[in-house]
Amino acid sequence: MKKVAKFGGSSLASAEQFRKVGEIILADTGRRYIVPSAPGKRSSKDTKVTDMLYQCYEAAEAGNTYTDLLGKIKERYDEIIRGLGLDLSLEEEFQKIEVSFAEKAGKEYAASRGEYLNGIVMANYLGYEFIDAAEVIFFDQEGKFKADHTNKVLSNRLKSLERAVIPGFYGAGPDGTVKTFSRGGSDITGSIVARAVRADLYENWTDVSGFLVADPNIIRNPQSIKMITYKELRELSYMGATVLHEDAIFPVRKAGIPINIKNTNKPEAEGTMIVQSTCRQAEYTITGIAGKKGFVAVNIEKDMMNAEIGFGRKVLEAFESQGISFEHVPSGIDTMSVFVHQEEFEGREQAVLSAIHRMAEPDMIELESDLALIAVVGRSMKSNRGVAARIFAALAHVNINIKMIDQGSSELNIIIGVKNSDFEGAIKAIYDIFVESQL
Ligand code: ASP
Repeated sequence: MKKVAKFGGSSLASAEQFRKVGEIILADTGRRYIVPSAPGKRSSKDTKVTDMLYQCYEAAEAGNTYTDLLGKIKERYDEIIRGLGLDLSLEEEFQKIEVSFAEKAGKEYAASRGEYLNGIVMANYLGYEFIDAAEVIFFDQEGKFKADHTNKVLSNRLKSLERAVIPGFYGAGPDGTVKTFSRGGSDITGSIVARAVRADLYENWTDVSGFLVADPNIIRNPQSIKMITYKELRELSYMGATVLHEDAIFPVRKAGIPINIKNTNKPEAEGTMIVQSTCRQAEYTITGIAGKKGFVAVNIEKDMMNAEIGFGRKVLEAFESQGISFEHVPSGIDTMSVFVHQEEFEGREQAVLSAIHRMAEPDMIELESDLALIAVVGRSMKSNRGVAARIFAALAHVNINIKMIDQGSSELNIIIGVKNSDFEGAIKAIYDIFVESQL
């Protein structure tokens, strides 16, 4: 078995956490390629090293003193090094960083040092080779990740290496300057490495035992999801982002490598397996429920809309012309609704409305704000009759009015629009009917 194991910031926040990680790696000889994040929070009031680095660089850029804060960052690493009893000094590295900050090496360079230094510590601790991600992960001038070039260089480099540590989150642009992924991007690096070495499994170690069927802030102690497909996870992306970076799916998905979300603080827990496809039915009819508040429905009416060729395109073009992305577009014979993010829409509202009038010449436009969207997702829904009926009955039972219904043609999801104020109640009712009542 060849595995890539990525460890998140909270898994590497202190020497004690590093030890747990060390034990996990030693427990399985297949864990050959390790991708660390920067040290995260040691307690809820603590600050992540990445955030400290951003602050520190901001001060340097503004011409303020930053050496004290840099000293505090160094202390975070020294504490780990001391706690692990390693014979390692980061003195020279920090001198280089101090000079680079003074020379304004860039915000992304600054942030990347968290992973870079943690990679050096991790490699020293494990006795694995350290590979600077700037030599093997590439971005173009605009900061877009170059997947194929990276895959070629990285797989070549790792071919002859039995074991290695590759820090997460960053790589380099065409001129060698350091570029980073968006926050939480070490998950993406792990996935890229897994693809490059054709791993059997990509383990993503974090501080929760995988995905839950519903948000624990809404449902007390929700059940966990043992297995989920990439597609289901995409449909549940409203909830996924805090556990796994959305973009981390793509490299492994291409290569058909499963991801296992695991808990560093509870390694014996199974966690969640994310797979390409499975014949294993989900435990419940639904795999998960996720949602988000803060949408606006732009309801557009025009007589004989169904007969007008190009009407939908013109409407959507109006949104495009104002740089607004849409979430859902349910329609009727003479109506079409476009669901957009309220926050994004508010600033451009009038410009969008006049663009629709100009481009699509509707009879009427009506706006409805403060709506929430809830996605009920499950690969088993297809083979079960009455899923929609059960959802609607559950919502009717708790007096929640459904504003919109949208079922994807894959029958993998049913999206429901409700008022923001009904959001939590609706999720509870759906969870109850499909999960709680089945326990
Ligand atoms: N350290 C980076 C962050 O805090 C990247 C990561 O942890 O994945 O966002």
